[in-house]
Amino acid sequence: MSKRKVMLVFGVRPEAIKMAPLVLALAQHDAMEPCVVVTAQHRALLDHVLHTFGIHPAHDLDVMQQQQTLEDISVRVLERLAPVMRAERPDIVLVHGDTLTTFLASYVAFLQCIRVGHVEAGLRTWDKHAPYPEEMNRQLTGVLADVHFAPTKWAQDNLLREQKDADSIFVTGNTITDVPALLAQRSAAHAIGAWCANRRVVLVTAHRRESHGDAHRRVFRAIRRLVERIPDVVVVYPVHPSPAVRDVAEEELSGHERIRLIDPLGLVEMYDMYRLAYLILTDSGGVQEEAPSFGVPVLVLRDTTERPEGVAAGTLRLVGTDEERVFSEAWTLLTDARAYRAMASVANPFGDGRASARIVEALEYTFGMRMQRPEPFVPGRKECGV
Ligand code: UDP
Repeated sequence: MSKRKVMLVFGVRPEAIKMAPLVLALAQHDAMEPCVVVTAQHRALLDHVLHTFGIHPAHDLDVMQQQQTLEDISVRVLERLAPVMRAERPDIVLVHGDTLTTFLASYVAFLQCIRVGHVEAGLRTWDKHAPYPEEMNRQLTGVLADVHFAPTKWAQDNLLREQKDADSIFVTGNTITDVPALLAQRSAAHAIGAWCANRRVVLVTAHRRESHGDAHRRVFRAIRRLVERIPDVVVVYPVHPSPAVRDVAEEELSGHERIRLIDPLGLVEMYDMYRLAYLILTDSGGVQEEAPSFGVPVLVLRDTTERPEGVAAGTLRLVGTDEERVFSEAWTLLTDARAYRAMASVANPFGDGRASARIVEALEYTFGMRMQRPEPFVPGRKECGV
């Protein structure tokens, strides 16, 4: 009997990182096969991840252009994806998260009467404009999806509030918690590692569109003040290539001997940094979910998060972008060992390293290959492989 074809469509770095464990799991399956399609919304960062995991897409739509608008990307994805899906006729299309690719691939699949599975379903801020355009991308995808892989119970509850059919929702954990085990034996020996030796490393990542400009400037000023006040602290900031981020970062943070602005890190290098980091300041979603696997506290540089499980569990604290607030929250964690330990010693609330295994089981159930639904992810158990 021929294998069920599972098409996975994604276009940017974090989607690729989170879909990679699932692609690898499906490639091992006896009765299902993956068919990877990349839109390459962001070229270089995506390619790096594909290379890291040895994934070779069946189709590369290569939509990225210089100074592309969201509408430009949308038109190109629709034009190029439709014939690919029509030719491949997959049994199901899996999309991830909340990018334009996510929504547009779901829409094309819907138009062609192909089932849609949404990985990392049910995250919500309920604010149409924040994060922009991601909140609408994921809500619209939720409307189109037939199967929802909710990472946590909170995400499942959001979907139930929207009247999604309970049988169509599987609580799987987040696939990003599967990645540390896949990369456990790898190390990249980046020069920054030696530079960090014997000092407390504050790792910074900040790229969100709604923080471009003044909000980033306030955060960067707080970070510079911290470094000036605490002599054993160094800051490593892999700066996102967007000029809107890079220019402000260079204006506020360059020229200090204990601050390094570096190019984006490869994933293996990034995981090395997690192992070195003492504290993380970020507005990235993926980083909020990964850092607890390494026991590193995270201050979230946003006013809202669609990952409240981390705040409730105590691994994340929402600090916004006010300079004084960012400074004082980071100061507390760098000077108060008890406050630090309370945040650093929590099991990852986002997953236990078995998310892609559960999604594969849920697909088996959906295709009628198994009779029982997979057991849902329940937080609190120690992750495997970290
Ligand atoms: N990441 C990386 N190199 C970097 C910065 C981040 O590999 O220099 C990884 C990080 O480990 C995480 C993902 O990129 O897995 C997060 O992506 P990003 O912050 O771009 O997007 P978001 O998660 O906010 O959608």
